[in-house]
Amino acid sequence: MDSTLARWPTGLIPVRGLMSVMHLLIDATGVVILDTGLPPDASRITLAIAHAGLGPRDVRAIILTHGHLDHAGGTAELKEWCGAPVYAHSLDQPHLDGTAQVRGRARIGAALEAAGRAMFRYRPGKIDAPLADGEELPFWGGLRVVHLPGHTLGHCGFYSAKHDLLFTADLWARFMMVVQVSPPIFTAAPELVAPSFRKARALGARRIVPNHYGKPDALRLRRSFENLCDTMEKRVPVV
Ligand SMILES: [Zn+2]
Ligand SMILES: [Zn+2]
Repeated sequence: MDSTLARWPTGLIPVRGLMSVMHLLIDATGVVILDTGLPPDASRITLAIAHAGLGPRDVRAIILTHGHLDHAGGTAELKEWCGAPVYAHSLDQPHLDGTAQVRGRARIGAALEAAGRAMFRYRPGKIDAPLADGEELPFWGGLRVVHLPGHTLGHCGFYSAKHDLLFTADLWARFMMVVQVSPPIFTAAPELVAPSFRKARALGARRIVPNHYGKPDALRLRRSFENLCDTMEKRVPVV
C-alpha cells in the first residue's frame, strides 16, 4: 500500500493509559516518549518500550504536550528510569508543579487534578528543555513544535512533515465516541482555542492524532477534526 495512504504510520506506538493515550515514536535512532500519562501509566510505557525490544538507554527524549496530570503524571518516574531530557513549553511548568493559577470553570478541573495528585502520590516533573513555537526537534525524522494555547497556556502540538501527521494533543478529543472541543473545566484560556484550531488546520496534515481517542485510524481522526473545525468556524466568526 502507498505509505502516504496508510492509516497509521509505522513507528508510532499508542500506549493506552488510564485516561489518555500516550505515544512512542520509534525509528532507527531510538525512541521518544510523547506524554507520560497519569503516574501509574509510567509502567505501561516502560513495558511498551521493552515490548518494542528497546530499553532506557534508547530513549532520546520525553516530550510533553502539556502539563495536565493525565499527560505529565509519570514524568518524574520516567526521567529517573531513562535519564532523557524533558521537553515542554515553559508556560506549563506551573501545571507540573501543581501551582498553576486558573480562572472561571477551569478551577473545577484544577481541583480534580489536585485530588489526583494526592491520590497517586504525584511527584512533579521538571522541564529540562523549554520548547518554542516553530522549533524543529531532531526526532522521528523531524518534529515541529506547534504552540496551540488555550487548553493550557503552554499546550503544544507537534507536526511531522515526514509522516504528514499532526499531534493535536488536547486541542480536541474523541472521548466516549463523542468528538468534542477541550471542555471548559480543562481550558485555561477559552479565547485562545479558536485561533489554535485555525493554526492547526492550516498545516494541512493528512493524519491527525489527538491524545484521547478509540481506534488508531489517523485518517478517520482527521475527518473528525475537520468536521469539528467546520462547526467551530460557524460558531466563531473569524476576526
Ligand atoms: Zn489536558
Ligand atoms: Zn487530556
